[in-house]
Amino acid sequence: MENVFDEIRSRVSMRDVAKFYGLQMNHSGMARCPFHDDRTPSLKVYDDHFYCFGCGATGDCTGFTAKLFGIPQIEAAKKISYDFGLNLFNGEIAVSVNPRLKSENDFHVWLRNANLAVSEYLSKLNEWRKIYAPKNQWEQLHPLFVESLKRTDYVEYLSDLLAHGSDKEKKLYYKENGNDIKKIQERLEKLAAEVRPVKRKAI
Ligand SMILES: [Zn+2]
Repeated sequence: MENVFDEIRSRVSMRDVAKFYGLQMNHSGMARCPFHDDRTPSLKVYDDHFYCFGCGATGDCTGFTAKLFGIPQIEAAKKISYDFGLNLFNGEIAVSVNPRLKSENDFHVWLRNANLAVSEYLSKLNEWRKIYAPKNQWEQLHPLFVESLKRTDYVEYLSDLLAHGSDKEKKLYYKENGNDIKKIQERLEKLAAEVRPVKRKAI
């Protein structure tokens, strides 16, 4: 079975594997690195390997999967084979991932999403505060201005926690209020859907 890693490399791309296991890449293939506390996208996903300019993590798709789930290379190969239907191990599936590592990984995925969502939402709130500020006392308050008034304090607190909090504090928040991040993500998705330009019919 020594060629199993080559076989995997030839049949699935690094990009597909990264995407399948939840890495969010931008259009140029950059993503926030799940292997260090990455504030800007420093990890580049190439066709056949990845490299993090922040922490130096690198490897092929099997190496990525092994690192991400905290499992040995051979188990990562089995996992990819199973998840992508490659049938390289006669239907054998990866040993179950150590539950502690699994939840550790869930936390890191959550943290990555939280960093992204909070910084995007906070910059929108700050923007709205300026551009939708009422010009006189009679003007009705713009709903986005009101949202900014209501939400900025909490989102600033979150941003501060994510940037300067200890791992313990972040984990506690994740456990007790982790869903708030999901709500922020949903809000951002809704906003993105709203601003999508509507095509006008030519008259
Ligand atoms: Zn890194």
